[in-house]
Amino acid sequence: MKLNPAMGDALRVVLVTGSTSGIGAAIARTLSREGYAVVLHSRNSAHTGRAMVAELKRASYVQADLSIEADRVRLINEAIAAWGQLDVLVNNAGISRVIPHSDLASASSTVWHELNEINVVAPFHLVTLAESALRDAARSGRPGCVVNISSHAGVRPKGASIPYAVSKAALNHMTRLLAVSLGPEIRVNAVAPGLVDTPLTAEWTEAQALWRTRAPMRRAASPDDIAKAVAMLVESDYLTGEILLMDGGLNLT
Ligand code: NAD
Repeated sequence: MKLNPAMGDALRVVLVTGSTSGIGAAIARTLSREGYAVVLHSRNSAHTGRAMVAELKRASYVQADLSIEADRVRLINEAIAAWGQLDVLVNNAGISRVIPHSDLASASSTVWHELNEINVVAPFHLVTLAESALRDAARSGRPGCVVNISSHAGVRPKGASIPYAVSKAALNHMTRLLAVSLGPEIRVNAVAPGLVDTPLTAEWTEAQALWRTRAPMRRAASPDDIAKAVAMLVESDYLTGEILLMDGGLNLT
C-alpha cells in the first residue's frame, strides 16, 4: 500500500545500506515511490548519494565504511537524527570474491575475515544499533522490519566462492535467529537473489548462459525484480523468519 504522509499517513523511514548502486539503488527508489523516507548510504560514492537525495522525494544520505565499527555507529545515529525515527533497515551492502570452489588455497583467512566482517558481522551490528528505534516503530501500530540481502549461494552449494557462500548462509541463519529473538516488535526476513544484472555481474557470461537456458524464467533478475520482493516483505506485517529465494526458479532444475 502506498504511503502518503502529506495526506496524514504516518511517516515510515528506511535505511538501505549500499544504496548508490546496483540492487540497493533499486530498493531505495522502489521504497521511495511507495512513500518511504529513505536514508541512502555508501562507502565511497558521496556525489551519487547527494544526486539521489535530489532525485527522491524524501531522502538523506550518509557516507560510512561498514568495515569500521565507529562508522556503523555514526550511520545509525545520523539516520535516526535526520528523521527522528527508523522503521526499516535493509542490510544490502555486501562484498564478494570470485574463487573457484576447487581452489581451496586461494580462500585465505584474509578473504574469510573480510567477507565475514561485511556480510555477517556488520549486518548484525547494524541491527543491534538500530534495535531500539526499530522497536519504537511498533508503537505506531506496525512492527519494525529488517530485510537482509543474502544470496542463493547461501541456500545451495553454489556461488562466487566458498567463503562468500558460507557468509550468506550465516546471514540466512542469522535472519531466522533474529526473527525469533526480536519478535513481535521487529520482523526479520531475507531475500536470496540468484544472478542479478548489475555492473558486478556484467562479465559473468557462464552464469548468464546458465540462467538463460536452465532457469524456468529464462533470464537473470533485474535489480527492480529484487527491489519489488523487498517491498513485498517490508509491507507484509505478519511475515518473519523467511528466506525468499529469488533465482527465477533455477533451483528447481
Ligand atoms: P554492488 O557492488 O553494486 O553493491 C554492493 C554495495 O555494498 C555497494 O554499494 C558497496 O559500496 C557496498 N559496500 C561494500 N563494502 C562496503 C563497506 N566496507 N562499507 C560500506 N559499504 C560497502 O553489488 P550488488 O550486486 O548490487 O550487491 C548488493 C547485495 O546483493 C550484496 O549483498 C550482494 O552480495 C547481493 N547479491 C548480489 C547478486 C548479484 O548477482 N548481483 C546476487 C546475489 C546477492
